[in-house]
Amino acid sequence: MKVFISADIEGVAGVNDWKECSDEHPDYSYFKKRMTLEVAGSCEGALDAGATEIVVKDAHNSARNIIISELPTPVEVIRGWSGHPYLMMEGIDDSFDAAMMVGYHDKAGSDRNPLAHTISSRSFAAININGTLASEFLINAYTAALHQVPVVFISGDHGICDDAKVFEPMIETAPVKRGVGGSTISIHPQLAVDKIKDAARMSLTGDAVARKPELPEYFDVELEYMDFKDAYRSSFYPGAVLKDTKTISFSTDDYFNVLKLLMFVN
Ligand SMILES: [Zn+2]
Repeated sequence: MKVFISADIEGVAGVNDWKECSDEHPDYSYFKKRMTLEVAGSCEGALDAGATEIVVKDAHNSARNIIISELPTPVEVIRGWSGHPYLMMEGIDDSFDAAMMVGYHDKAGSDRNPLAHTISSRSFAAININGTLASEFLINAYTAALHQVPVVFISGDHGICDDAKVFEPMIETAPVKRGVGGSTISIHPQLAVDKIKDAARMSLTGDAVARKPELPEYFDVELEYMDFKDAYRSSFYPGAVLKDTKTISFSTDDYFNVLKLLMFVN
């Protein structure tokens, strides 16, 4: 059984501030260790359930966060960004049986995590796909669906875990914190690792792994920018239309076109 894991940091237990997510700040070294341990927990859970191959995509910022020697040995890690439009899911293909997401966070437009954002916290106030406020979970679950790979497990804040359950009721979740205004209330980091390990293991032993995810037939995308100048510039992307001063719209029946849009106009 081959498992793909996409790892972020803003949904890791205890992380509360951008400084803790930035390699330019001294607070970061502690939290990159916590991210590493949560990813290691998900790998151990997957291995306990019988996974034979695991590929981890380090998917936050520089994509050079995870301390790779702390992961179990059967794991391959993708660091850095190749430039492929799969972004946080770079490396996934038809050969995988299941995908997992670790350290994920609520979407731009939500108030359930002080670090809520989608793709780019600098660029986007909101991303809508088919009338729904899209999260990185949704965008990346659709990417997995391009290869018929079900997302079976997610850890992160309560908001994103709740969203994932609505989208896919069979998914196993490990919520480790919730946001209140600018604060976060987190469980103990070791308990977070334990919960992640248990839920990751359970996710591969249930029915969710046999599910073949389906993609919508059509994608109506709206990107609302923080800055009207970014919307104006992005409206010249082929197929994009300036909808209002801060929003562009884009429609396609091919999800890969959505991913290319997101890569080039953020
Ligand atoms: Zn991130």
